Amino acid sequence: MSPQVIAFHYKLTDVSGQTLDQSEANDPLAFMTGSGQIIPGLEKVLVTLKIGDKKRVEVEAADAYGEHSLENIMTIARSQLPEGDVKVGDMFHGPNGEPVTVTAIAAETVTLDGNHPLAGQKLIFDVEIANVREATKDEQAHGHAHGPDGHHHH
Ligand code: ZN
Repeated sequence: MSPQVIAFHYKLTDVSGQTLDQSEANDPLAFMTGSGQIIPGLEKVLVTLKIGDKKRVEVEAADAYGEHSLENIMTIARSQLPEGDVKVGDMFHGPNGEPVTVTAIAAETVTLDGNHPLAGQKLIFDVEIANVREATKDEQAHGHAHGPDGHHHH
């Protein structure tokens, strides 16, 4: 089956009900199926819905941004970071291009956490499907959606 582009409105909350993110009123998020643009636990539900459908989707951490893993926490020498002030909360790109956050600073070392900020969290999405269409040839070649109407240039 050829890839689809699904555009959807969403509100993302954590288990305590706090809103973490949401789409703008007239600007649904569009993604191409099978491209890894959105988390797998959400995509597998969205592909079963039709235009206009509303659904609450609860995604366990493992199907969202992964479990919070100690393997993703590393301590490096201070000298391995760029010159200048480094403070807790700063973000860098790690060895594989992944974002890492400074979580502790000692005299000679810095601790970096490569877990996604939402790792280890169950996520709750309230979604409404705005549009479903076939992916264009350009989108298939690029491996991502070009907005809800397929004409977004970038
Ligand atoms: Zn593109």
